Amino acid sequence: MTPDSLSAHLLGCGDAYDTENHNSGLLVSQDNYRLLIDCGPWLTRRVLDSVSDPDWLDAIYITHAHPDHALGLTTLTNWMDSKKRKKTLTIYLQREQKSVIEALVRYAHWPSANLGYSVDYHYIEATREIGPWQAEFAPTRHAISNMSIKLTNNVNHALFFSGDGELGEEGAELAASSDWVFVECQTYDWHHSHGSLLQIRALDKKPNSDWLLYHIDPVDREQIRYALSQQNQMRVAEEGVVMDRTFAPETGGIIC
Ligand SMILES: [Zn+2]
Ligand SMILES: [Zn+2]
Repeated sequence: MTPDSLSAHLLGCGDAYDTENHNSGLLVSQDNYRLLIDCGPWLTRRVLDSVSDPDWLDAIYITHAHPDHALGLTTLTNWMDSKKRKKTLTIYLQREQKSVIEALVRYAHWPSANLGYSVDYHYIEATREIGPWQAEFAPTRHAISNMSIKLTNNVNHALFFSGDGELGEEGAELAASSDWVFVECQTYDWHHSHGSLLQIRALDKKPNSDWLLYHIDPVDREQIRYALSQQNQMRVAEEGVVMDRTFAPETGGIIC
């Protein structure tokens, strides 16, 4: 039996208007299944830098329909079309945000009636699995509805990505039971609709879990980096970081 490999590649770690980093987005893969979480306008370039096969990506999850998390969908789905993608693309989203997201994809093929491949929209309200993972979602406190996501693989290794917004009780529970936690941290001090270091620091954390803070306001980045320099469970996420684990299927033991 071949071992299972789970990988999470943080393609971008920037906030909405960051001029040094690309928009925040995570590529998760296992067993040749690839899911992109969020697709901002500048993130598209990072995807195209590492991909040449238009069928390479299986699915995209949009945590919320803010432009810095969704606007790149037009370019990415248009590129797949121009490169003759044939495989169906699945887009996971919130039911109430479908009209906005669908308009971005429609623009990718305008004035043609369709793309050259199918796009399946799946509402996360009815989603329990994505590819090889069990999927769970929880709301955050944000300017619009944002749903954080936890993906758990067949050996109970779990990954969490918050999207945008301060974690509520339910989101904090998903994060606290995950091994790799990607959490939005716009500011050092408390923020009414974003994550902050003060709030994230106080959250429960699974022993030996890794917490990576992304979507940081460039003005606060050094202060947050300094505050985290004395401990090793949380760190400022660097663009391009890859988390990788290979598991022995029978035991769930880590191989490397
Ligand atoms: Zn954002
Ligand atoms: Zn947002």
